[in-house]
Amino acid sequence: MSKITMPNKNKTCQQSLIPLNSKPLNVKNGRLEQIDWLASPNYNHRPEGVEIDTIVIHNISLPPDQFGQTDSQGMHHVKAFFTNCLEYEAHPYFQTIKGLEVSAHLFIERDGAITQLVNFEDRAWHAGLSSYLGRDKCNDFSIGIELEGSDFQPFTEMQYQALASVIVAIYQAYPKTRRHLTGHSDIAPVRKTDPGEYFQWIKLRKMVSEQLKSSVNTNLNS
Ligand SMILES: [Zn+2]
Repeated sequence: MSKITMPNKNKTCQQSLIPLNSKPLNVKNGRLEQIDWLASPNYNHRPEGVEIDTIVIHNISLPPDQFGQTDSQGMHHVKAFFTNCLEYEAHPYFQTIKGLEVSAHLFIERDGAITQLVNFEDRAWHAGLSSYLGRDKCNDFSIGIELEGSDFQPFTEMQYQALASVIVAIYQAYPKTRRHLTGHSDIAPVRKTDPGEYFQWIKLRKMVSEQLKSSVNTNLNS
């Protein structure tokens, strides 16, 4: 019998690592330069003529309220979930999300490590049924950022720092987003509660405005 070589089903689960950068972050061709890239298949094109003008913050943890858990291959459960590679047998909760095809543009772990899964120019599947300022289908015009976290625990300082850095980079690449920074619970209030009451909006906004000020100063001085 001749040997048949099967295509590698898990190809998309393998992460291409790019060394972590020195700040500030920069968006080029829809991607944050120098951060980890892990391609999610869960995206499609944004509708023609729709501009990116909103940033949506989420939280996620798999299993719920547990952080940094990895599968038998050493892959983070959330990254596996966003690339349709989650080992659904590994935990009873995973059975309840089996087959869901979702993603976000960015995932920020507890230690502040950032992974980009979908090009900003493409439409990630993070918001679901949603409405923001009278506009439905928020995935069409937004960038989705998932923080590893839950509604019941504080986020880490490293996450706020990483989040502020990526928001500043996004503001510079897509200036209309400066006016629309929101949470999943605000665009899908009946269905969703994330990023939750522990998420410190004022702290984030202060960090973002400080970074913006220092980036302006850097530009003036260069
Ligand atoms: Zn969410």
